[in-house]
Amino acid sequence: MTKYIIAGNWKMNKTPDDAAVLAKDIVNAVANAPAEAEVVICPPFTALSAVAKIIAGSSVALGAQNMHFEKSGAYTGEVAPDMLVQLGVKYVIIGHSERRAYFAETDETVNKKVIAAFANGLVPIICVGETLHERELGITADLVRMQVRIAFGGITAEQAKTAVIAYEPVWAIGTGKTATNEQADEVCGIIRQTVGEIYNKDVAAETVIQYGGSMNAANARELLSMPNINGGLIGGASLKSEDFKTIVFSV
Ligand code: PEP
Repeated sequence: MTKYIIAGNWKMNKTPDDAAVLAKDIVNAVANAPAEAEVVICPPFTALSAVAKIIAGSSVALGAQNMHFEKSGAYTGEVAPDMLVQLGVKYVIIGHSERRAYFAETDETVNKKVIAAFANGLVPIICVGETLHERELGITADLVRMQVRIAFGGITAEQAKTAVIAYEPVWAIGTGKTATNEQADEVCGIIRQTVGEIYNKDVAAETVIQYGGSMNAANARELLSMPNINGGLIGGASLKSEDFKTIVFSV
């Protein structure tokens, strides 16, 4: 059975009270989701605790949107891996393009965070993808290969098998411009091939590779039917429980 992971990235939206309401709606909406679909919701840090209480006992898993790679210390404003673990967080988004663009995250910090995630039993959702300028320069494949190779430095094959990689073309995030099914599948295929080169075919086959970038209720079924895409990282549409439900039921 192919495993699909559908993750909602709520970004900087929802107070703890509002997040609890949305989480409850989502728990109800996906109660009879297909068995092969793992559903993850990633609220802001401040709402993790409230959402954890709501989803307890359901099939919905909790994710965070970021974390620091150090255990503790003088890192004002940051959150350590074990702080997330204690709240019941299972997944953590690493290296989202908004983190890279606005908060100076690099492939190197992404790698440190991926190592720290695995060290703490968290599943990283590792974001890679090109800007429009990079696509127009024709360097998408090289760039994404490099992002994946650096992210997985020091990661064992056993760990890599459980990792999630999100291919998110930056030009498609929050813009309403979705990559075509073929564009998305092509790059997800390059990512899978790169994982195979770093490790082996078995690891490449098991790694969940999501597409993210204006995935919505109308385009999810086609994107998720592509051979190299087994999941979605969803921003805007994950804030509407009915749309999110439709995406989950599209696997
Ligand atoms: C995202 O934030 O990862 C994302 C894909 O956003 P959106 O679905 O809104 O494009």
